[in-house]
Amino acid sequence: MKIFNTLSRRKEEFVPLEPGKVKMYVCGPTVYNFIHIGNARPMIMFDTVRRYFEYKGYDVNFVSNFTDVDDKIIKKAIEEGVDADTISKRYIAECKKDMEGMNVKPATKHPLATEEIGGMLEMIQTLIDKGHAYVAADGTVYFRVKSFKEYGKLSHKNLDDLQSGFREIKVTGEEGKEDPNDFVLWKPKKEGEPYWESPWCQGRPGWHIECSVMSKRYLGDQIDIHAGGEDLIFPHHENEIAQSEAANEKPFATYWMHNGFLNIDNKKMSKSLGNFFTVREISEKYDLQVLRFFMLSAHYRSPLNFSADLMEASKNGLERILTAAERLRELAGKTAGETLLESEKEQEAALKALVEKFEAAMEDDFNTADAVSALFEIIKLANTTASEASSKAYVSLLLDEIQKLCDVLGIITERKAEILDEEIEKMIADRQQARKSKNFALADEIRGKLLDMGIVLEDTREGVKWKRV
Ligand code: AMP
Ligand code: ZN
Repeated sequence: MKIFNTLSRRKEEFVPLEPGKVKMYVCGPTVYNFIHIGNARPMIMFDTVRRYFEYKGYDVNFVSNFTDVDDKIIKKAIEEGVDADTISKRYIAECKKDMEGMNVKPATKHPLATEEIGGMLEMIQTLIDKGHAYVAADGTVYFRVKSFKEYGKLSHKNLDDLQSGFREIKVTGEEGKEDPNDFVLWKPKKEGEPYWESPWCQGRPGWHIECSVMSKRYLGDQIDIHAGGEDLIFPHHENEIAQSEAANEKPFATYWMHNGFLNIDNKKMSKSLGNFFTVREISEKYDLQVLRFFMLSAHYRSPLNFSADLMEASKNGLERILTAAERLRELAGKTAGETLLESEKEQEAALKALVEKFEAAMEDDFNTADAVSALFEIIKLANTTASEASSKAYVSLLLDEIQKLCDVLGIITERKAEILDEEIEKMIADRQQARKSKNFALADEIRGKLLDMGIVLEDTREGVKWKRV
């Protein structure tokens, strides 16, 4: 299996630290709002990587954090007049709903930054003791970048270049830095912010330290794969390497994987440009399986452009797979014969070759685009060769392989149960009744249930309108 390693900028053969096991850490979202479709890309792609390892029989320990202390969370909390914890808990719950909709498996462990402060204090102290960090007059603790000789090895930057870039920049509040490249490990609290006690000052951690600490706690000093979006290469992952390797005195991750960016209509997705979608917004138009299938249509390292046309194409592609699986299920109920017919032996060989093609694509740095093409060839084989004249053995073999490969891609082959118009009308009437009696929690619950079934409600002056999505 070959993986493109950002460290070496080459595809390398995957050799696990421990045979049969994969230790994997993926940087998760900062939880101050609903996740957007850009955040969904690493979730879906690295979930697919995990699923492929599991398909190959590896035992995967998959850790992904939620950053639940951050300036943006604090800002949102102040805006709403609630505490930061309320904001982060709310959006962690919403993020988990979106993950479920996209069929992203829960991690083995989803650590929260605020629950790992003890480990952070410990690692920061170790860095100070080893001369890799220092405390400024105001109690801020900085990592001393010059003390880590390999700084820049991931992003392929060298310190002198960074130095000249920084010369003109002075960040207020960071006057205590020995060097402009040094970064914050711990900073003093500001009025109204959450804070923790520490030997240096009452304050909170810098962003980078949490991942080094959580990775060490749940996976050990050395891990196989560390992953995230390409914007994290510098400074986040570069700084994680510096912290972990300086503290643990061991190489941190063997392979560094980074997904390319998701753009919208060929432009960077941004709130100010107005071309910004949350996963939740997309779920009102499409089953999130379609979003997942769309992400799989490109190699994870390539930039990917999101557009309505491409989503429609993904919807159709997915539909072809679901229809084929449905037909095979029906055929399995109608056909007989526990062994393959003589005439099916050749088709069995063709199927085997296509499964190998799928695997070869996945083993070439997880080329899901080519893997999906191989899957479509299997669908074509199924559509053209399976019929009521086939043996049950052949139909089951096809169905079994399609299901296994779809499972690697995280695609569920069973359609969601159809809901009848009368049932929808009945639920809407119940919701209206709940609203009348001011039971808004129940009304919202009914709306949520309908949404889960693909029904979107719109409250208009003429009454409630609904549509299937
Ligand atoms: P954040 O919440 O900004 O820390 O991002 C969480 C994850 O989403 C990180 O791995 C980011 O690299 C990734 N990410 C953010 N925006 C995009 C995007 N437009 N395309 C792909 N990945 C993204
Ligand atoms: Zn991280």
